[in-house]
Formats: sequence, C-alpha cells, structure tokens
Amino acid sequence: MFRLDFLNVFESGARALLNEHPPFMTVNRQPPHITVVGLGWLAESLIAQTARMWREQRTKANQRLRLTIVDGNASARLEEFFRQSIELCRQAGLVEEGPVYVDSTLIRAGASMDSLIRREDLVRPPLSIAEYLQRLDQEAGEPEEEPRDDAGGGPSPPRKPLPPNQKLVSRTDPEATLVNRPDFGRHLAYKAHLAVAGRQGQVITAAVATTGAAADEHLLAEVLWQHRRLSRLGVPEVVADAKYGTTGNFLYLGQLGIPTVIPTTRFGNMRRDIWGREHFVWLAAEDAYLCPAGEKLRRHTNVRGTCRVQYRAPRGSCSTCVYRRQCTPSGSERTIHRSWAQEFVEANEERLASPLGKQRLVERQIYVEGPFGLAKELHGLRQTRFRGRRRVQIQVWLTAAAMNIKKAVKHTPQSPERRGTPLLRPWLRLLLSLGSLSGPRLAHV
Ligand code: SF4
Repeated sequence: MFRLDFLNVFESGARALLNEHPPFMTVNRQPPHITVVGLGWLAESLIAQTARMWREQRTKANQRLRLTIVDGNASARLEEFFRQSIELCRQAGLVEEGPVYVDSTLIRAGASMDSLIRREDLVRPPLSIAEYLQRLDQEAGEPEEEPRDDAGGGPSPPRKPLPPNQKLVSRTDPEATLVNRPDFGRHLAYKAHLAVAGRQGQVITAAVATTGAAADEHLLAEVLWQHRRLSRLGVPEVVADAKYGTTGNFLYLGQLGIPTVIPTTRFGNMRRDIWGREHFVWLAAEDAYLCPAGEKLRRHTNVRGTCRVQYRAPRGSCSTCVYRRQCTPSGSERTIHRSWAQEFVEANEERLASPLGKQRLVERQIYVEGPFGLAKELHGLRQTRFRGRRRVQIQVWLTAAAMNIKKAVKHTPQSPERRGTPLLRPWLRLLLSLGSLSGPRLAHV
C-alpha cells in the first residue's frame, strides 16, 4: 500500500512565502503596493494567491490593491497573456472560424497639447553643423571658405509647409501624433486596430497599437497576420469599412483568395451627369473598353500613384460623337480608369449588394464598434495610461484580454466538469482576481 500525493511546488512556495511575509501592511492608511520582479511560475502563483487574500481581507468592496510586475520580457509576456485569453474563449466554445471584422479607434494620449514643441528643439546639439565645421577649420588653422551661392543668385522657391507631425513633437510623449478630426477633436493620439471573430464575433483575436496618424489601410495585413498567429484561425472572409478599400488591400486579399465585404468609394469620374464606367463594356481579351458609340478605348497610361490604368478613346473620335454631351462635354478624348484590382473590386461590390453582404455590414457595426465603445466606457481605453507606443500596446493587449475573459467567463458552463478545466483554472484564478487590482504594470528592467 502506498499513498500518492500531487503538489504544485510553486503554489506551496508562494503560500509559504506569504505566510512568512504577510503582504498587506498598510502604511498611513494607504492601500498596499506590491512589486513582483520576474513573472515566472512562482510569481504567477504569488500574484494569484495575493489577489485572493486581498479579496478576503480588504475592508471596502472598491478598495484596490496596487500591483507592479517587473519583467525583462514584458511585451512577450503580455502578448502571451492576450493569447491565453483567446484560448479561454476557445474553451468556452466562442472561437470558431468565420468572418473577421477589422476596425480601428483613436485613443487620446496622456500628454497635453502644451507639450508640443518644434522637432528641432527636442534635441538641441551644442553646435549647429555650420558652427561645428567652422570650429574644425579654425582648429586646423585653415582659412575660412567663402559661402557658395548654390542657387545661382536667383531667389530660392518657397518651401512647401511640413505636415504638423513632421514639424511638431510632444516633449512628454514623442511617439504620440497629432490628430485633428471633427468627431475626435485636436489631440495627441494613438490608435488601436482590432480584429474580432468567433461565434457572433465575440472574441478579440488581434490588437495592434500604432501612433494616431497611422493609416488604417496599411495595417490590415498586420492585423490579419496577428489574428492568424494568435487565434490559429483562418481568414475565410474580411469585413471592414471604406477606409480599408484600397487597391493594395483588394489586391492582397484577392490574390490570397479571401472574399471581402468592404464598401468602396466611386473613383475617377465623380460627376453624376456624365456617363460612368457602367456605360462601357470591358473587353478582357483586347484589354480595352467598348464605348456606346462602338469606339475602343485602349490602354494609355499606367498611373502608379493611384494603382490604376487609364484607357483613352481614339484621337478625334469624341468631338463629333452624338453622345458627346453625356460622355465628354468638353469634346476631348474620353478616358476611363481601371483599378489594378478591378476584378476583386467588382466581386466585392457584388457581395456588398447581396443580402449577406448587407448583413455583414450591420454585424460589423455591432461586433467591432460595440467592443470599442465598451473598451472606452468600461475599460479605460479612452485615454492611454502609459507613454510610448510599446507601453500603449501593453494597455491595448490588457484591455482586449480583459474583455475576452469576461466573455469567456459569461459563456463557461458552471458544471463541475467544466470548473475543473485545466486551462481555465490557473488563468481564471489570476484574471478574476484582477478585478481587485489597480491595473498591473509591467516594465522592462
Ligand atoms: S464621346 Fe467618345 S467615348 Fe463617348 S461614346 Fe462618343 S466616341 Fe465613345
């Protein structure tokens, strides 16, 4: 006969440590502030048990325990923490492959507009380049060179004014950028880019922080890559708003075979009183458009800046055409622009016009804009708590993780078998306790 006991040395060690050194010795009636160095298994057990003890011992329900975690690899730890929150949602049955909804929101930076200074004033070298060269010449005992008139005597052309973010920088948070939007005001800002997926779009599967001025459309590939990496889900369909409807994005997703539901804006001819592309027939075999008068508009220019090809009617064909008034009132040769991703754009437009496409756009508002509202109202994402993009990324991961965990807990059946789920137990124990913490901070050492 023998007896077999299982024990977790980290839990036992943490319990022994807390018994020997009780953590809640209040000074000047201030709540205790605990610092844990290194987020290893022992530290995890220590934090979980400390949080549980605090819940049991605190005198007021809303009294918060301040906890600072210092770890040399904070970003990777926090990313793993966020990934685990997606795993919790998987355990709760919320994660399943389906459309991925992508959007972004601005977050006000925790830096005042008064902190803005000119970029050249941020780091002021002891000497300008000219002064430094002059000093080198003097030290070498060489005669000073006469300044050359490179402009050839004529007045130099006026310089184009620099954009505000190239001209100004915040002294207190140099990575925050100036954003001026009617719905946001003029503030220093960061941006959170989210992907939401899963059953009824309930799980945040990617959370990327950038400066406020970062263009949404350039982050689509990065957000989708993070979604695949962290959630291990595919991307069967992408739903996003019109900001993401660029030729680059349509080409990228189209070549990967990913269907899109992204509203597009009419480009090229913006006048409603003049015939649009719909009046012309695309001749794929001839790489040309056939106009209503039977003329062929041939490839004329490849406009790289806008990723479009310009097609033009034969010289002199439009000035005498009977359709001139509706087609080209000026009488000059009619042109049509075709996006490099035209086939993908047209397939996207077909999808948009279908009942399913319309449903997807409604879902996007609920599944993505809803979490943004909640994150700002209930989880403090209206303003950053930290400075610098890397730290804001940590705040975005923590916020997304907290929201995922709340959903996982809500959808986890309370049967005895589920309560013992191995993955849920350690993380729930730690994370449910976070309700009593004042926001754990991780810093590099
Ligand atoms: S105006 Fe030119 S492009 Fe338009 S229908 Fe006439 S010939 Fe064709």
